[in-house]
Amino acid sequence: MGLNKQSGNMYPFVTHTWNPIRGRCPHQCCYCYMKRFKVGNLRLEEKELQTNLGNSNFVFVGSSTDMWAADVPSEWIQKVLEHISKYNNTYLFQTKNPIRFLKFLSYFKENYILGTTLETNRDYNITKAPEPIERWMAFMQLNKYSIRRMISIEPIMDFNLRDFLCMLRDIRPEFVSVGADSKRNNLIEPPPEKIKQLIEHLKSYTNVIIKDNLKRLLD
Ligand code: SF4
Repeated sequence: MGLNKQSGNMYPFVTHTWNPIRGRCPHQCCYCYMKRFKVGNLRLEEKELQTNLGNSNFVFVGSSTDMWAADVPSEWIQKVLEHISKYNNTYLFQTKNPIRFLKFLSYFKENYILGTTLETNRDYNITKAPEPIERWMAFMQLNKYSIRRMISIEPIMDFNLRDFLCMLRDIRPEFVSVGADSKRNNLIEPPPEKIKQLIEHLKSYTNVIIKDNLKRLLD
């Protein structure tokens, strides 16, 4: 597969995706778009470690499975981080198990952005990943380091406005991306006014990316 040019409902700034670790994601989120595909067991594709990642790209590493899940061997992650360090790109990592980032702090450079997904502040039991409050607590530990951070609120689910706003502000993210469930998985979604209040507040202190798929919930 190698380096893939970005297409589809991704972040607008991402130029490429690269998936050296593939297979069935242990988190098994009920809304996962990868559920449609036969992806096999979790594995490191060693041949991907020969991929030329180019220069000045914005690469989302691990867009098809959560390469930071607890079941992923540290050795695989280490090999991926060693490979990307040879190329001068901006890299985005996103996980629902951000505590794993803390074990690899020495690898992260100023052109790396670490992200976590917080669909809501509530636990709806829709994934085997750590619940949102655990992700938040782990991600908060990155505040001690000068590491770039982002939050993905996608697919957005109903939340407690005040609590969620406090959680998000405490993280001090460089940007927040807000999107909705594209595949209509019958998630519990917030009303338009609540989403608008959330976005308005976020805009007062950070950059907000509003994904096209959110329009369905704002009308
Ligand atoms: S963490 Fe991401 S890749 Fe893994 S099951 Fe959930 S949505 Fe899919």
